[in-house]
Amino acid sequence: MNVTKTKYLKFEIFSKGVRLSNKIKSKLGKSIKEQLNMRSGLSNGLDIILPNNIWVNAPIDTKPTSAAPFLVDEEDGKFVLKKNGEKLAEILIPPRPLLYSYYTSDGVPFKKIGSIRADRLSICLNNNCIFWNDKKLRCKFCAIGLTKKNEIPIKTSKQILETVEAALSDPVLPAKHIYLNSGAQDGLDNGFSRFAKIISEIKELFNVNVHLNPCPPRSKKYIDLLYYSGLDEISFNLEVFDEKIAKEVIPAKYNLRELYLKMLNYAVEVFGDLKVSSCLVVGLESLNSTIKGVEYLLSHGIIPKLSCFRPLSGSLLSKRPPPNFKFLVDVYNRAKELSQEYGVPLGPLCQPCQLHSLT
Ligand code: SF4
Repeated sequence: MNVTKTKYLKFEIFSKGVRLSNKIKSKLGKSIKEQLNMRSGLSNGLDIILPNNIWVNAPIDTKPTSAAPFLVDEEDGKFVLKKNGEKLAEILIPPRPLLYSYYTSDGVPFKKIGSIRADRLSICLNNNCIFWNDKKLRCKFCAIGLTKKNEIPIKTSKQILETVEAALSDPVLPAKHIYLNSGAQDGLDNGFSRFAKIISEIKELFNVNVHLNPCPPRSKKYIDLLYYSGLDEISFNLEVFDEKIAKEVIPAKYNLRELYLKMLNYAVEVFGDLKVSSCLVVGLESLNSTIKGVEYLLSHGIIPKLSCFRPLSGSLLSKRPPPNFKFLVDVYNRAKELSQEYGVPLGPLCQPCQLHSLT
C-alpha cells in the first residue's frame, strides 16, 4: 500500500481510537485543552500530532475506544503513543489555549462561543438544527442537539468578534483561521443574511481566512451575498453519496440532494478553484459508492473531504462500529489516485485541519 507508516497510524487511530493514561487525563483542562463537546460533536476527540506533522483528532469518547490498543501517555516529560504497551512514537499535544480561561465583555466564557480545533477557531453560528429536532429527519450520526448546553445557542456579533480577536491573539495557541458552521435554519433566507453580516464584520476587522459550512441556501443569490461579504471558502457536506443509504441515514439532506449539488456547483462558479469543498463520511456506505462520490466532486472541481465515521454517544448510530483500518486505507488509495487524475487535491488543504480526514 502506498501510504507512509505514519498515515497508516492515523487511519488506525481513526478506526480504533485511543485511551488516555491517568497522567494525561489529569492534564485535561489544565495544560492540555479539554473536550468541549460543541457543534455536531464529530470533532470531540483529542488533537495529537504524530511524527511528520500528521495531525489527528483521536476518538476518545466513543464506545470502541475503551478497548483501543493505543494509549496516549507521558514519559520523562514527553508525550508518547503506545500500542499494546509498546512505545510507538513521541507525539505532540497542542496546549490549552488561554482563550478557554477568559470571557466576553458580557461575561460569557469564550469557550461557550467557539472552540479551537487544530489551528482554527470553530464557531457554530447557530447550533439549533431544524432537521435534528425531528428524529425522522435528523442525520443519524449527528449529536448537535445534545451539545446545546455546552455553548450559547445563538451568538451575537459582538460575542463572536470578541472571541475571534481573543483567539487570533492567543499567546499560547493562536488561531490561524476561522471556521464557521450552522445547523439547518428555517426562515425565508435560512439564516444566510445573518451569516453574511457576521462574515463581513469579521473580514472588516481582521485579516484572516474564513470558511463557512452551512446547509445550502434555497437561492443562488445567497451564495453571491456570501462571496461579497468577503467569505474565502465554503462547503456543503453531502455526507453520503449512495441514494438509498442517504435516504436512510441523512433523510432531510437526501430530500435536498439536488439543491446540494446545484449550490456546490454554483459556488465553484462564484468562488473559483480550490475554494469549495464537501465532506463524505467514510464508513456509512460501500467503498465503491464513496469513490463514486469522490469522483463526482473531483470532476466538478469540488474538493472532497473524507471524514471517518465516528459512533457518537447519543446519536442514532452510536452502536454502529467505525470502519476498519483496511477499508480506510483502500478508500484513501482509490481517492488519492482519482485526485491525481483530476488534478484536484483531497481536502482540507490546511495540514493541521486534516486532523479528521483521510489525507
Ligand atoms: S444537518 Fe444533519 S449533520 Fe447538520 S446539524 Fe443538522 S442533523 Fe446535524
